[in-house]
Amino acid sequence: KKIVFSGVQPSGKLTIANYLGAIKNWIPLQEEYNSIFCIVDLHAITVPQEPQNLRKNTLDVLALYLACGLDPKKSIIFIQSHVSAHCELTWILDSISYMGQLNRMTQFKEKSQKPGADVNAALFNYPVLMAADILLYQTDLVPVGEDQKQHLELARDLAIRFNNRYSDTFKIPEVFIPKIGSRIMSLQNPEVKMSKSDKDENAYIELLDDPNSVRRKIKRAVTDSYGEVVYRDEQLGIKNLIDIYSVFSGESIKDIENRYIGKGYGKFKDDLAEAIVEVLRPIQERYEEYRKNKDFLEGIYSEGAEKAERLANRTLKKVYKKVGFIPRV
Ligand code: ATP
Ligand code: MG
Repeated sequence: KKIVFSGVQPSGKLTIANYLGAIKNWIPLQEEYNSIFCIVDLHAITVPQEPQNLRKNTLDVLALYLACGLDPKKSIIFIQSHVSAHCELTWILDSISYMGQLNRMTQFKEKSQKPGADVNAALFNYPVLMAADILLYQTDLVPVGEDQKQHLELARDLAIRFNNRYSDTFKIPEVFIPKIGSRIMSLQNPEVKMSKSDKDENAYIELLDDPNSVRRKIKRAVTDSYGEVVYRDEQLGIKNLIDIYSVFSGESIKDIENRYIGKGYGKFKDDLAEAIVEVLRPIQERYEEYRKNKDFLEGIYSEGAEKAERLANRTLKKVYKKVGFIPRV
């Protein structure tokens, strides 16, 4: 069986963009692949986190993974910091990473240019840690949003470079980006992607937002003065809302456009909000159940870490040997 690997940072509350761009697409992959899903807490600290929040968010993400349909019987689900091989392989990959290439990473540029940003070395090194995550498991497929495509290319480059310099060691991973929903934009500024770490709460919808918050945020979503529900680049706000509508309802973009001809934005936004609320409702109900049960969650991440560690260490051992480290006997 081929291997799938992906993860989300516990750097805040998960948004519908994390769901549409990533998690939603993981669910069916579990059936065909050996799937490994991680809560990437090591990545989260590339931006300052309050320890109390980080702990809470990590368990929230785990409960949401389960509520969205990840199944610990089918997938390995674990917390990144529990498997030390992620950091260890990062160091090795650092030794073949070019500063120039890391400097061109748009996520680093965007995050380090935010006003008041903490531009630390880990933020710069983020894509190398991500490469280690993926390569440790001999991953075939990495389902992520569009924003991670460049990091995936770096992971491939590093795998190829290592294989060439030493000898065949890493599988070269492929990226999997969904056709619609891979780049959900901020509701307040459709020129930038929706992010859970956005300072403006109105820019995103959380998976755990109650129905009235969803309705309010959709009402406030930035549109334009054309007044037509048409999917085109002149109307980035509306285009984004149609994308969201399409993935939440399963309807085609054409069908949505046709239904709102001559109807204006009010009705469109009302219906969109309800479509989101309907999908979130059962996820939230399941989440509440899982989140209450600390022992159950603990069981899942401990078992996950054990399985992941075994796989990861197998790769790390090979790598150490190839690099020229003397095995400890
Ligand atoms: P942060 O602001 O802390 O970076 P984030 O919302 O970007 O948070 P990540 O944890 O960095 O979330 O990414 C988790 C997954 O969600 C990744 O696969 C990423 O590609 C995907 N993703 C993030 N933002 C979007 C978006 N706007 N549209 C579609 N997918 C997205
Ligand atoms: Mg991100």
